[in-house]
Amino acid sequence: MIATPLTTEKKVSLQLLHLYPDLLNLYGDRGNIIALSRRCQWRHIEFTIVQASLGDKVDFSTIDIVFMGGGSDREQTLLFQDFKAYKGPALVEATEEGLPLLAVCGGYQLLGKYYKTQEGDEMPGLGLFDAWTEAGKNRLIGNVVARIPLLGPNITLVGFENHSGKTYLGSSETTVPLAQIIAGHGNNGQDKGEGAIYKNAVGTYLHGPILPKNPAFADWLLTKALERKYGKGQLEPLPDLWEQKAHQSVVKRFS
Ligand code: GLN
Repeated sequence: MIATPLTTEKKVSLQLLHLYPDLLNLYGDRGNIIALSRRCQWRHIEFTIVQASLGDKVDFSTIDIVFMGGGSDREQTLLFQDFKAYKGPALVEATEEGLPLLAVCGGYQLLGKYYKTQEGDEMPGLGLFDAWTEAGKNRLIGNVVARIPLLGPNITLVGFENHSGKTYLGSSETTVPLAQIIAGHGNNGQDKGEGAIYKNAVGTYLHGPILPKNPAFADWLLTKALERKYGKGQLEPLPDLWEQKAHQSVVKRFS
Protein backbone atom coordinates (compact mmCIF):
# COMPACT_ATOMS: atom_id res chain seq x y z
CA MET A 1 0.00 0.00 0.00
CA ILE A 2 1.34 3.52 -0.63
CA ALA A 3 2.60 5.51 2.36
CA THR A 4 0.55 8.67 2.09
CA PRO A 5 0.16 11.65 4.41
CA LEU A 6 -3.58 10.98 4.47
CA THR A 7 -4.67 10.28 8.07
CA THR A 8 -8.25 9.38 7.12
CA GLU A 9 -9.35 6.05 5.65
CA LYS A 10 -9.97 7.87 2.32
CA LYS A 11 -9.48 5.49 -0.60
CA VAL A 12 -6.48 6.35 -2.79
CA SER A 13 -7.61 6.72 -6.38
CA LEU A 14 -6.34 7.92 -9.75
CA GLN A 15 -8.34 8.86 -12.86
CA LEU A 16 -6.81 8.58 -16.33
CA LEU A 17 -8.04 10.50 -19.37
CA HIS A 18 -7.67 8.55 -22.62
CA LEU A 19 -7.66 11.08 -25.48
CA TYR A 20 -9.01 10.04 -28.91
CA PRO A 21 -9.14 6.30 -28.15
CA ASP A 22 -11.09 5.76 -31.39
CA LEU A 23 -8.50 7.50 -33.55
CA LEU A 24 -5.09 7.31 -31.85
CA ASN A 25 -4.93 3.57 -31.27
CA LEU A 26 -2.00 2.14 -33.20
CA TYR A 27 0.17 -0.87 -32.35
CA GLY A 28 -1.51 -1.82 -29.08
CA ASP A 29 -0.87 1.53 -27.37
CA ARG A 30 -4.03 0.88 -25.32
CA GLY A 31 -1.89 -1.69 -23.51
CA ASN A 32 -0.25 1.18 -21.66
CA ILE A 33 -3.55 1.94 -19.95
CA ILE A 34 -3.98 -1.71 -19.02
CA ALA A 35 -0.47 -1.73 -17.52
CA LEU A 36 -1.14 1.39 -15.41
CA SER A 37 -4.51 0.01 -14.31
CA ARG A 38 -3.05 -3.34 -13.20
CA ARG A 39 -0.10 -1.72 -11.39
CA CYS A 40 -2.62 0.31 -9.41
CA GLN A 41 -4.93 -2.63 -8.74
CA TRP A 42 -2.03 -4.72 -7.42
CA ARG A 43 -1.44 -1.92 -4.93
CA HIS A 44 -5.13 -1.48 -4.04
CA ILE A 45 -5.22 1.96 -5.69
CA GLU A 46 -8.56 2.62 -7.37
CA PHE A 47 -7.98 3.38 -11.08
CA THR A 48 -10.70 4.81 -13.31
CA ILE A 49 -10.59 5.70 -17.01
CA VAL A 50 -12.52 8.43 -18.83
CA GLN A 51 -12.35 8.96 -22.58
CA ALA A 52 -12.61 12.05 -24.77
CA SER A 53 -12.66 12.29 -28.55
CA LEU A 54 -13.91 14.66 -31.25
CA GLY A 55 -16.16 17.41 -29.85
CA ASP A 56 -15.77 16.35 -26.21
CA LYS A 57 -14.89 19.01 -23.68
CA VAL A 58 -12.73 17.91 -20.74
CA ASP A 59 -12.77 18.99 -17.08
CA PHE A 60 -9.09 18.50 -16.28
CA SER A 61 -9.70 19.15 -12.57
CA THR A 62 -10.86 15.51 -12.28
CA ILE A 63 -7.90 14.07 -14.21
CA ASP A 64 -4.71 12.65 -12.68
CA ILE A 65 -2.95 11.24 -15.77
CA VAL A 66 -3.46 11.81 -19.53
CA PHE A 67 -2.71 9.23 -22.26
CA MET A 68 -2.63 9.66 -26.06
CA GLY A 69 -1.67 6.84 -28.41
CA GLY A 70 -0.28 6.84 -31.93
CA GLY A 71 -2.09 7.21 -35.24
CA SER A 72 -1.61 7.40 -38.99
CA ASP A 73 -1.30 10.79 -40.74
CA ARG A 74 -4.95 10.35 -41.80
CA GLU A 75 -6.22 10.02 -38.22
CA GLN A 76 -4.04 12.91 -37.09
CA THR A 77 -5.58 15.20 -39.74
CA LEU A 78 -9.05 14.22 -38.43
CA LEU A 79 -8.35 15.39 -34.91
CA PHE A 80 -5.64 18.07 -34.75
CA GLN A 81 -8.12 20.98 -35.06
CA ASP A 82 -10.38 19.49 -32.36
CA PHE A 83 -7.33 18.85 -30.15
CA LYS A 84 -6.14 22.45 -30.45
CA ALA A 85 -9.59 23.98 -30.05
CA TYR A 86 -11.31 21.86 -27.40
CA LYS A 87 -8.52 20.27 -25.33
CA GLY A 88 -5.42 22.35 -26.00
CA PRO A 89 -5.59 25.42 -23.72
CA ALA A 90 -6.84 23.51 -20.66
CA LEU A 91 -4.38 20.64 -21.25
CA VAL A 92 -1.40 23.00 -21.55
CA GLU A 93 -2.49 24.80 -18.36
CA ALA A 94 -2.85 21.51 -16.45
CA THR A 95 0.56 20.21 -17.60
CA GLU A 96 2.11 23.53 -16.58
CA GLU A 97 0.86 22.65 -13.09
CA GLY A 98 2.48 19.21 -13.28
CA LEU A 99 -0.28 16.96 -14.66
CA PRO A 100 1.47 13.76 -15.81
CA LEU A 101 0.92 12.92 -19.48
CA LEU A 102 2.15 10.16 -21.78
CA ALA A 103 1.81 10.67 -25.55
CA VAL A 104 3.06 8.10 -28.03
CA CYS A 105 4.22 8.86 -31.58
CA GLY A 106 1.27 10.54 -33.37
CA GLY A 107 -0.02 11.89 -30.07
CA TYR A 108 3.50 13.09 -29.18
CA GLN A 109 3.89 14.88 -32.52
CA LEU A 110 0.69 16.91 -31.96
CA LEU A 111 2.06 18.24 -28.65
CA GLY A 112 4.87 20.02 -30.52
CA LYS A 113 4.57 23.21 -32.58
CA TYR A 114 3.55 21.41 -35.79
CA TYR A 115 3.68 18.15 -37.74
CA LYS A 116 4.30 18.41 -41.50
CA THR A 117 3.45 15.26 -43.45
CA GLN A 118 5.36 13.93 -46.47
CA GLU A 119 2.63 15.45 -48.65
CA GLY A 120 3.38 18.85 -47.12
CA ASP A 121 0.18 19.08 -45.02
CA GLU A 122 1.09 21.04 -41.87
CA MET A 123 -0.88 20.30 -38.69
CA PRO A 124 -0.41 22.92 -35.97
CA GLY A 125 0.19 21.31 -32.57
CA LEU A 126 -0.28 22.58 -29.01
CA GLY A 127 3.28 23.81 -28.64
CA LEU A 128 3.47 22.12 -25.23
CA PHE A 129 6.88 20.78 -26.27
CA ASP A 130 9.47 23.08 -27.83
CA ALA A 131 9.65 20.69 -30.76
CA TRP A 132 8.50 20.27 -34.36
CA THR A 133 8.10 17.28 -36.67
CA GLU A 134 8.59 16.91 -40.42
CA ALA A 135 7.97 13.64 -42.24
CA GLY A 136 10.88 12.19 -44.16
CA LYS A 137 10.82 9.90 -47.20
CA ASN A 138 11.76 6.80 -45.20
CA ARG A 139 9.95 5.44 -42.21
CA LEU A 140 11.95 4.93 -39.01
CA ILE A 141 11.07 1.38 -37.98
CA GLY A 142 12.46 -1.15 -35.55
CA ASN A 143 13.31 -2.02 -31.97
CA VAL A 144 14.73 0.68 -29.74
CA VAL A 145 16.98 0.56 -26.70
CA ALA A 146 17.72 3.88 -25.00
CA ARG A 147 19.13 5.19 -21.74
CA ILE A 148 16.59 7.11 -19.62
CA PRO A 149 18.40 9.38 -17.10
CA LEU A 150 15.02 10.33 -15.58
CA LEU A 151 14.90 6.94 -13.85
CA GLY A 152 18.55 6.86 -12.79
CA PRO A 153 21.99 6.06 -14.20
CA ASN A 154 22.15 3.09 -16.58
CA ILE A 155 18.37 2.51 -16.60
CA THR A 156 17.18 1.53 -20.08
CA LEU A 157 13.95 2.10 -21.98
CA VAL A 158 12.89 -0.38 -24.69
CA GLY A 159 10.16 -0.40 -27.30
CA PHE A 160 9.28 -0.47 -30.99
CA GLU A 161 9.11 2.51 -33.36
CA ASN A 162 7.35 3.03 -36.70
CA HIS A 163 7.09 6.63 -37.87
CA SER A 164 7.79 8.82 -40.90
CA GLY A 165 7.87 11.99 -38.81
CA LYS A 166 11.25 13.24 -37.64
CA THR A 167 11.03 15.32 -34.49
CA TYR A 168 13.54 18.02 -33.56
CA LEU A 169 13.70 19.68 -30.13
CA GLY A 170 14.30 23.42 -29.77
CA SER A 171 17.13 24.90 -27.77
CA SER A 172 14.93 25.71 -24.76
CA GLU A 173 16.01 24.39 -21.37
CA THR A 174 12.43 23.30 -20.71
CA THR A 175 11.92 20.56 -23.33
CA VAL A 176 14.69 17.94 -23.26
CA PRO A 177 14.97 14.44 -24.74
CA LEU A 178 13.35 11.73 -22.62
CA ALA A 179 16.10 9.25 -23.43
CA GLN A 180 19.38 8.78 -25.29
CA ILE A 181 19.42 6.20 -28.10
CA ILE A 182 21.63 3.11 -27.72
CA ALA A 183 20.02 1.18 -30.61
CA GLY A 184 17.35 2.37 -33.05
CA HIS A 185 16.41 5.79 -34.48
CA GLY A 186 14.41 7.75 -31.88
CA ASN A 187 13.22 11.28 -32.64
CA ASN A 188 14.95 11.73 -35.99
CA GLY A 189 17.68 9.14 -36.48
CA GLN A 190 20.36 11.84 -36.25
CA ASP A 191 20.75 13.47 -32.82
CA LYS A 192 20.40 10.29 -30.69
CA GLY A 193 17.48 11.77 -28.79
CA GLU A 194 14.33 9.75 -28.14
CA GLY A 195 11.11 11.44 -27.06
CA ALA A 196 10.73 14.62 -25.05
CA ILE A 197 9.89 15.65 -21.50
CA TYR A 198 8.56 18.93 -20.13
CA LYS A 199 7.72 18.93 -16.41
CA ASN A 200 5.67 15.69 -16.07
CA ALA A 201 4.52 15.59 -19.69
CA VAL A 202 6.30 12.91 -21.74
CA GLY A 203 6.30 12.22 -25.46
CA THR A 204 7.87 9.11 -26.92
CA TYR A 205 8.12 7.24 -30.22
CA LEU A 206 8.05 3.90 -28.43
CA HIS A 207 5.12 1.63 -29.13
CA GLY A 208 5.10 -1.90 -27.91
CA PRO A 209 3.16 -0.86 -25.79
CA ILE A 210 5.94 0.88 -23.93
CA LEU A 211 4.82 0.58 -20.30
CA PRO A 212 4.55 -3.22 -19.74
CA LYS A 213 8.21 -3.67 -20.72
CA ASN A 214 9.33 -0.61 -18.75
CA PRO A 215 7.74 -0.99 -15.29
CA ALA A 216 9.97 1.67 -13.68
CA PHE A 217 8.68 4.21 -16.21
CA ALA A 218 5.07 3.15 -15.57
CA ASP A 219 5.64 3.64 -11.83
CA TRP A 220 7.25 7.03 -12.45
CA LEU A 221 3.99 8.21 -14.07
CA LEU A 222 1.90 6.79 -11.21
CA THR A 223 4.19 8.33 -8.57
CA LYS A 224 3.99 11.77 -10.22
CA ALA A 225 0.19 11.51 -10.29
CA LEU A 226 0.01 10.49 -6.62
CA GLU A 227 2.44 13.24 -5.57
CA ARG A 228 0.38 15.85 -7.44
CA LYS A 229 -2.91 14.60 -5.94
CA TYR A 230 -1.89 13.62 -2.38
CA GLY A 231 1.25 15.62 -1.72
CA LYS A 232 3.45 12.56 -1.88
CA GLY A 233 3.12 8.85 -2.50
CA GLN A 234 5.66 6.04 -2.31
CA LEU A 235 4.59 3.02 -4.38
CA GLU A 236 5.02 -0.45 -2.91
CA PRO A 237 7.56 -2.29 -5.14
CA LEU A 238 6.16 -5.06 -7.37
CA PRO A 239 8.10 -8.25 -8.29
CA ASP A 240 8.05 -7.39 -12.05
CA LEU A 241 9.68 -10.69 -12.96
CA TRP A 242 7.97 -11.04 -16.35
CA GLU A 243 8.35 -7.35 -17.12
CA GLN A 244 12.10 -7.43 -16.47
CA LYS A 245 12.45 -10.66 -18.50
CA ALA A 246 10.75 -9.00 -21.48
CA HIS A 247 12.80 -5.82 -21.02
CA GLN A 248 16.14 -7.61 -20.79
CA SER A 249 15.37 -9.78 -23.81
CA VAL A 250 15.11 -6.61 -25.95
CA VAL A 251 18.24 -5.06 -24.39
CA LYS A 252 20.26 -8.26 -24.96
CA ARG A 253 19.03 -8.77 -28.53
CA PHE A 254 19.28 -5.23 -29.87
CA SER A 255 21.94 -3.30 -28.00
N1 GLN B 1 1.61 9.35 -38.59
C1 GLN B 1 2.80 9.65 -37.78
C2 GLN B 1 4.08 9.26 -38.53
O1 GLN B 1 4.03 8.48 -39.47
C3 GLN B 1 2.72 8.89 -36.47
C4 GLN B 1 2.81 7.38 -36.64
C5 GLN B 1 2.52 6.63 -35.35
O2 GLN B 1 1.80 7.08 -34.48
N2 GLN B 1 3.11 5.39 -35.24
O3 GLN B 1 5.15 9.69 -38.14
